Amino acid sequence: MTELRTELRTELGTEQFDCVVIGGGPVGAAAALELDAAGLRVLLIESRETAAPIAGDTRPLALSYGSRLILERLGVWDALAAATPIERIHISHRGRFGRAVLTAAEAELPALGYVLDYGTLTTALDDAIASRGLRTLRGARVTSIAHDRTSARIEFATAQGPGACFASVVAVADGTADTAGVEVRVVDYGQSAVSARVETDRGHSRTAYERFTSEGPLALLPHGGGYAVVWTTPAEHAQRMCDATPAAFLAELQERFGERAGRFTAVSARAAHRVALRVAERTTSGRAALIGNSAQALHPVAGQGFNLGLRDAWELAGEIRKRGPGDEALLLAYGARRRIDRTGAVAFTHALVKVFSNDWLPLGLARGAGLTLLDSLPPAKNFVVRRMIFGSRG
Ligand SMILES: Cc1cc2nc3c(=O)[nH]c(=O)nc-3n(C[C@H](O)[C@H](O)[C@H](O)COP(=O)(O)OP(=O)(O)OC[C@H]3O[C@@H](n4cnc5c(N)ncnc54)[C@H](O)[C@@H]3O)c2cc1C
Repeated sequence: MTELRTELRTELGTEQFDCVVIGGGPVGAAAALELDAAGLRVLLIESRETAAPIAGDTRPLALSYGSRLILERLGVWDALAAATPIERIHISHRGRFGRAVLTAAEAELPALGYVLDYGTLTTALDDAIASRGLRTLRGARVTSIAHDRTSARIEFATAQGPGACFASVVAVADGTADTAGVEVRVVDYGQSAVSARVETDRGHSRTAYERFTSEGPLALLPHGGGYAVVWTTPAEHAQRMCDATPAAFLAELQERFGERAGRFTAVSARAAHRVALRVAERTTSGRAALIGNSAQALHPVAGQGFNLGLRDAWELAGEIRKRGPGDEALLLAYGARRRIDRTGAVAFTHALVKVFSNDWLPLGLARGAGLTLLDSLPPAKNFVVRRMIFGSRG
């Protein structure tokens, strides 16, 4: 293997980095920033040509308070100061009794989370990357990674032709695990999430709503002066809601959600995102570590995906900082460190979808009782809040 590396390096005249990050989505960008801050030689490779947000992606992100702390340390939080704080989360189930309310005051935090657009977050991270002069290769699609014990060779395709480079460690943040060649277990929920902005005839009081329905969870997140909607529903219905006139969309949303947030008065352009649970069989492969959606892509219920992925990036960078990028036990340590948080988030979101998207009466009664119990037991509330904010190890 060592011979292979030497041979190819000479043949291709390639460069050696401490870390190569594949994928400049929010998780890869955060990893690159932290690795750069550790004084390492880093290259970020992103297949999209420009840093501009993906047109038509109206996806909102609810960042947990824990993610805010990480983004502060990365030096990007100031650029995200316009994010809307969530001070209260109201959880209910359509057509059933029982509800729970989680508050920042009870958790003794300034906010439970913050809402912003995916595009706003990636722009802030891209600006930080540019201002630090971090090496970035845009318009380059990684096609393969070959490994030996202490190094990896990364091949990529660009409009100018193929290229390659070497790294002591690779952070795979491509959103799919394809470049790492790791098997992925997929659970297709048969649902899509419709994202849009809506306005109402009353303010949002910094309250987020998670309303479970038998077709799928419906979230209303305070965003600017109105709400961002993430409405998970069978894929075919989601497409109809994207194609519906604004009036027809608002009428159906009102019928599903009820009057708790007031009357819906206006809606923006909408986009449908197919949702599935995708879990990589392993979080490491040779000299590569999977982070973010590459390691696990979750159902958007409870807004956990990016928050979990950011913790992957943060903890991988922490291990590299501590051990050095060439350490042979590095990847093993990373895999072990992330196991509980990752397993916990996968199980938590999958159980929420399965338990709440079910019309079986006894289960409905148990859910109602569960929400009422959660609402009346401060230690249980505290456990749920800490889990959502800091993950399973929080
Ligand atoms: C409707 C919806 C709502 C959501 N709401 C929330 C929420 O409220 N809170 C939350 O925490 N999460 C939420 N999520 C999840 C969140 O969007 C994802 O977890 C997050 O975007 C994952 O980021 P990532 O960087 O890992 O992957 P991605 O965002 O998928 O980025 C991957 C990047 O890799 C690049 N790439 C791919 N292949 C290659 C290659 N071969 N070579 C080079 N580059 C490559 C891509 O161009 C892309 O830029 C939501 C998701 C959806 C769909």
